Amino acid sequence: MKRLHFCTAASVTMIFLGGCAKSASPEADLTGQGGFVSPETTDMEIIVESAPLLPYYTVYRVKRGDVIGHIARDFGVTEDTIINVNNIDNSRALQIDTYLRIPSIPGILYTAAQDGETVAEVAKKYRAYDVVPENLAAVNGRDIGDALSKGDKLFVPNARLDRAKLQEINGDLFLWPLQGFHLTSYWGGRRSPLTGRREFHNGFDLAAPQGTAVYPARVGRVAAVDFNNTYGTYIILSHDSAYRTLYGHLSKVDVTVGQWVSRSTVIGRVGSTGLSTGPHLHFTIYKNGRSLNPAYHLP
Ligand SMILES: [Zn+2]
Repeated sequence: MKRLHFCTAASVTMIFLGGCAKSASPEADLTGQGGFVSPETTDMEIIVESAPLLPYYTVYRVKRGDVIGHIARDFGVTEDTIINVNNIDNSRALQIDTYLRIPSIPGILYTAAQDGETVAEVAKKYRAYDVVPENLAAVNGRDIGDALSKGDKLFVPNARLDRAKLQEINGDLFLWPLQGFHLTSYWGGRRSPLTGRREFHNGFDLAAPQGTAVYPARVGRVAAVDFNNTYGTYIILSHDSAYRTLYGHLSKVDVTVGQWVSRSTVIGRVGSTGLSTGPHLHFTIYKNGRSLNPAYHLP
């Protein structure tokens, strides 16, 4: 007796993972019709799973105005689920027409960092989310004693990303370094206000009166205080997770190298030193040495 397993939720917009994909072949191939069983082939017992345990994935195409939180709510999963399953590293840079894979149940994917870890051991790591080994094994079509190989993935139901990671992805790590300003120049290609030539502007320009207090965009440590012809007097702060921020064209510096700064520390004052057409703060966010578009990292 041959058995064909069908996931009842199957439709053209869904792709399958784990057990459902496995049971659709090779048996299904014997019909030569991609899993369709004609009434004549009566020696087959067809088992229709009314409530598939394994998560299935829906593909969703991002529309204008979509926000991950809303998509998550519509599909009954968490923001963490969509971010994690789609390897999104910045939720605010989500592009229209991107295809997102959305699992049928909330949770995140765990990737084995080395050989030999068992399903039961992974379950233990997620105890805080009430993950029990038997359920984790069942959801992934595994046994609790199965040893994973490096790179193997397990879908962990109900698990969430850690808070710091989620903040980073959602662009909630930084705050504006000035309390009142006009944003006069964005990050990206622009025509230089001084030479008229095309140039790459690696940060934001915030125009504010000479002497306006400059605050750290995030808690950190003063990595450099220096002067160059472009940024004039500038400060570089270093932060967790390989982030750095630069504050340029300052008229005054109120911190020293090595000092820890909080959000309420005045680190310097707005000025017009270096290549500048008037009092403003040049502000850059770097991650691993590359400038990021502050638009995705500021409230
Ligand atoms: Zn600038």
